[in-house]
Amino acid sequence: MQGTVKKDVIVIGAGPAGLCCAAWCRELGLSVLVLEAAAESGGQLLWINGPIANYPGIKAANGREFRELFMPENIEELIRCEIRVTSIDTVSRTVATTDGTFAAEAVVIATGVSRRTLKIPGEKEFFGRGVLHSGAGSKGEMGGKDVVIVGGGDAAFENAMILSGAARSVAVVHRRDRFTARKEFLDTVLSRPNVKLIRNAALAEIAGDDAVRSVSIRDVLTGEMTTLPADAVLIRIGVAPNTEFVPAEVSRDSDGYLSVDHLCRTKVEAVFAVGDITGRVAPTIVSAAGNGATAAKAVRMLVRS
Ligand code: NDP
Repeated sequence: MQGTVKKDVIVIGAGPAGLCCAAWCRELGLSVLVLEAAAESGGQLLWINGPIANYPGIKAANGREFRELFMPENIEELIRCEIRVTSIDTVSRTVATTDGTFAAEAVVIATGVSRRTLKIPGEKEFFGRGVLHSGAGSKGEMGGKDVVIVGGGDAAFENAMILSGAARSVAVVHRRDRFTARKEFLDTVLSRPNVKLIRNAALAEIAGDDAVRSVSIRDVLTGEMTTLPADAVLIRIGVAPNTEFVPAEVSRDSDGYLSVDHLCRTKVEAVFAVGDITGRVAPTIVSAAGNGATAAKAVRMLVRS
């Protein structure tokens, strides 16, 4: 077993929920280890290229700046990055990882969500060569370009607002005829003359050579295929919880989000879950941080009882 030291608590994931939980656990006198699969902490904060203005007391130009202001003092010493958890044994409370096995009295799962992908030809191949990682981050390079955005929610429409301010054209491709994006985003996008909405349509392929040149679109009602010239594609079709390593006895809802009570306890003794992995209703930094603090207090009650 990795190190012989057993921690009071292992926190899996170093986004806002995990960081906050770790800081509170330490504050409450518990020994903590945070395991993070990425090369650096921050979780979804690293995705945010625009300003964050809705967290009490912190205003930041982007997610990285927010992280610097938010990071609890000296928290780095608790975090081990580039270690991916592969399974949890909920009986022995051990966590198997790509770098050995760790033991604890309690485990807090804070692995958040990942963006869904379409799994179509060209999506992976052209990632970074026309398939965009971020709308806000790519805006500066979109002058005179034709951009295709896939999705019908807030993320697709927020990016349509951003990119239509620079691109020659933006086509929003959505698989239904109704959009779920908030009204302010929809109204703004509908007022832009260079934006076209393509309804009841699915992206079938992204094609190109050294860069993206076109996309194939299938009409989901008729099956008819069309080709649209495109220089860039942004896929914003929602997110899915990162639970592949979580054992089946930790119950979840029909979308795969982990079920917890008001103290962030799962149905399994000493296994907690915090942040976006617990549901899609309030995926906000402030609720993730609050969850982290709540779980820490519940962990302390368990470990010191
Ligand atoms: P949503 O879950 O809100 O929307 C996902 C969209 O993608 C829906 O239109 C959905 O269509 C479509 N979709 C899902 N799966 C597929 C698929 N396989 N193929 C094609 N289309 C698909 O996710 P978002 O990413 O838009 O937003 C995620 C969360 O982040 C939301 O809570 C949102 O409010 C929030 N957000 C907030 C912002 C802000 O406050 N500024 C900005 C951006 C996002 P269907 O309806 O058919 O399922």
